[in-house]
Amino acid sequence: MKIKIIIPTERIQNPIIAESMVKTGVLLNIMVANIDSTYGELIADVEDGHFNRIKEALEERGAFVSTLDQPIHRDEEECVECGACISVCPMKVYTFDEKWNLFMDDKKCIRCGMCIKMCPHQALKLGD
Ligand code: SF4
Ligand code: SF4
Repeated sequence: MKIKIIIPTERIQNPIIAESMVKTGVLLNIMVANIDSTYGELIADVEDGHFNRIKEALEERGAFVSTLDQPIHRDEEECVECGACISVCPMKVYTFDEKWNLFMDDKKCIRCGMCIKMCPHQALKLGD
């Protein structure tokens, strides 16, 4: 499952992610990380069965953890297969297949919402 981890200013100097992984033995696959000396926001993938353990360890160290379990839904009636979502998606979720039909690989999606904003036909939304 995909999770979002927020590291607030007062904890940003601590190695929260590394400590939590070492303590629990749970590996996080970090997909996006926006971190500077004042704030941190990460999107990571973790096995479903390990979520509670790593969440507890991260939160004990001052991080905030939430799940990103709402999928992006495409309304096939509205979609005109213009390809705008292909060009804006940072994770290459969308591709055209050999028949020029739009294909979506939801496993790669980090729920950034960029495709929803950019779709000219409002064919995309978060959740069902
Ligand atoms: S941007 Fe919207 S209309 Fe264009 S291909 Fe993507 S989902 Fe379809
Ligand atoms: S929400 Fe972001 S990562 Fe997911 S498909 Fe849309 S643009 Fe790509």
